[in-house]
Amino acid sequence: MKRYSVFAIAREAMRYHSGWEKAWVSPEPKAKYDVVIVGAGGHGLATAYYLGKNHGIKNIAIIEKGWLGGGNTGRNTTIIRSNYLQDPSAAIYDKALQLYEGLSQDLNYNVMFSPRGVMMLAQTHHEVRGYLRTVHANNLQGVETKWITPEEVKKIVPIMNINGPRYPVLGALYQPRGGTGRHDAVAWGYARACSDMGMHIIQNCEVKGVRSENGTVTGVETTKGFIGCNKLGMVVAGHSGQLAEMAGFRLPIEAVALQAMVSEPIKPALDVVVMANTVHGYMSQSDKGEMVIGGGTDGFNNFTQRGSWHHIEETLRALVETFPMLSRLKMLRQWGGIVDMTGDRSPLISKTPLHNCFINCGWGTGGFKAIPGSGWAMAELVAKGEPGPLAEAFNMWRFKEGQFIDESVAAGVAH
Ligand SMILES: Cc1cc2nc3c(=O)[nH]c(=O)nc-3n(C[C@H](O)[C@H](O)[C@H](O)COP(=O)(O)OP(=O)(O)OC[C@H]3O[C@@H](n4cnc5c(N)ncnc54)[C@H](O)[C@@H]3O)c2cc1C
Repeated sequence: MKRYSVFAIAREAMRYHSGWEKAWVSPEPKAKYDVVIVGAGGHGLATAYYLGKNHGIKNIAIIEKGWLGGGNTGRNTTIIRSNYLQDPSAAIYDKALQLYEGLSQDLNYNVMFSPRGVMMLAQTHHEVRGYLRTVHANNLQGVETKWITPEEVKKIVPIMNINGPRYPVLGALYQPRGGTGRHDAVAWGYARACSDMGMHIIQNCEVKGVRSENGTVTGVETTKGFIGCNKLGMVVAGHSGQLAEMAGFRLPIEAVALQAMVSEPIKPALDVVVMANTVHGYMSQSDKGEMVIGGGTDGFNNFTQRGSWHHIEETLRALVETFPMLSRLKMLRQWGGIVDMTGDRSPLISKTPLHNCFINCGWGTGGFKAIPGSGWAMAELVAKGEPGPLAEAFNMWRFKEGQFIDESVAAGVAH
């Protein structure tokens, strides 16, 4: 594929943009591939990309029931950070952050990574103690993060009311390297790079069944017919339980809707990401000027990919004391995605009971930030058949053995 560059833009401007190629091709499926990845979200596409780039495996089909990036990858609020409490989490999220820092150059696609800083407010004494513990853990892990005082918070975010009557700001866990990225661009950038390596991205093709013989997957039944494979990667987020059921095993996972919304666009007012976990709300400002706002998950299992009134009310009620200016803003759009939650709120990057079938899921409310690191680790697992150092703690049998990676206590909101 032709490289994107400033010269390409200038050249195309001179010839009425007639020379741009399609960013990826959408072929009909072949009878068989070395690897089939189910799910063309960020994690599935990144897995395919690093299989090609790091392990030289390029005879790959990525099968998507809708359009690529149309799942949670295109529905999230794009927060990127790596200041998690537990060692395996900090390792994989920081690997992802390091890859994000060079991703636009690596993919030759502007993913608009914006390291504007992520601030997690402490609004109870319990939270102060928890975040100070995370700062110490992160220092030991080599992940840069720091504790800042309420006065420093106010200096960075002048629109914030730090003296709220119910929940005054007592300080914040701050990661200046964190920030946001453009979620669609991450999916499109990986898709273009995969297509450039000759991989097949097959959209509008739903996997309906998994065929196996003697504990070995032979292929998948799809709405475009049977597609054979030597190895299968399942990367379908909220639909992982259903895929696992097709393959004949159960996962320690549940599906819940998570919603978000944006306000009307306003002039620049907020140049960091702010998360307020006690009250369950978070906010950043997009390049278009919209306030991007999210909160907690729905309190019940469901598969509805849409917004609801109670979420608008609950989330804005939570944030308005800390950001009084929100009371004057109109909300423009609201949507939802189906997130895949494990009991310890950590992901699965794991072998399965079928020896050539691997699963990557359970990123829940916080997997956008993990996409490059997760793809890197999953590619190693699929290529070698065994997990590397980044993935090994995230196996699905940890729930049987009690080796949890507990991020649920560490972060009430794990975005
Ligand atoms: C509202 C919201 C806000 C969020 N905010 C953040 C945030 O700020 N920061 C952060 O890090 N994370 C956030 N997340 C979480 C993040 O979006 C997800 O963890 C991440 O995008 C998961 O990516 P994925 O590739 O695993 O899944 P997806 O992007 O959902 O991709 C899975 C794909 O599999 C496809 N699929 C499913 N079943 C089948 C089938 N049978 N056959 C073929 N294809 C199938 C789906 O159509 C889908 O495209 C948020 C999520 C939501 C919903």
